[in-house]
Amino acid sequence: MKPKVAFFDFTGCEGCQLDTLNLSPEEVLGLIGAVDIINFREVMTERGENYDIAFIEGSITRESDIPRIKQIRTQAKILIALGACACIGGLNCLKNHLPMDEALRIVYGEDAKYYDTIPACPVNAVVPVDYYVRGCPPQPGEVLKVVKALLLGKKPDIPNYPVCVECKMAGNICVFERGLTCLGPVTRAGCGAICVNAGRHCWGCRGLVDEPNTDSEKAILVKHGLTVQQVVEKFKIFNTYTEVAK
Ligand code: SF4
Ligand code: SF4
Ligand code: SF4
Repeated sequence: MKPKVAFFDFTGCEGCQLDTLNLSPEEVLGLIGAVDIINFREVMTERGENYDIAFIEGSITRESDIPRIKQIRTQAKILIALGACACIGGLNCLKNHLPMDEALRIVYGEDAKYYDTIPACPVNAVVPVDYYVRGCPPQPGEVLKVVKALLLGKKPDIPNYPVCVECKMAGNICVFERGLTCLGPVTRAGCGAICVNAGRHCWGCRGLVDEPNTDSEKAILVKHGLTVQQVVEKFKIFNTYTEVAK
């Protein structure tokens, strides 16, 4: 019996699900051969409710999300948070800096009374999460890597070291040398430092490493004449929930 896999979306842009499909034909065939996908709104109209593994995309942002995610957790043997919105709250948590009625008014104007909203949070603020597929969106193939590990009865191998390690291995010149700030020293690797490779900096979309070396980040800032506040502003983009919760 192949394990049954379902994908569910909460609040997000659905880019994570879309990115999940960004596999080679061989990888897609390998995935289809190994599991039964019974729920995946972006690729199929059929719906199944009998699943073993649930991938959750998006943040929890409405009262009605809470019973829904609890029901999914009850049914799923393994629950995996997919992407920054689900893993760390992500961009949706930017609204948490405002009173909720003001956030509603800004977005919906005079129609605000027709909508409900609560402070956004990651999935693990409501139900236990077994595994995390990080990033905004996750790297192509990361879902496949996690599914393969689970099928082999192994714990998925997700890095727990900073993006700087991958950035150095890619041969980049550090953006601090250009007077810019970067969250690479405290952000969990696994993306290959893709943003720095493309000439930008790390925004922290994969969340913090366990026990981030914030002293090291501060020392780098001091060395380059930059302030902690300059980094905190970047940190808020994806990690508002982490910042508020700490
Ligand atoms: S993590 Fe990024 S790509 Fe995924 S749903 Fe959220 S905003 Fe979209
Ligand atoms: S701080 Fe940013 S640019 Fe510098 S090495 Fe780390 S990830 Fe690369
Ligand atoms: S470099 Fe940073 S912002 Fe870019 S994908 Fe990696 S973790 Fe996310």
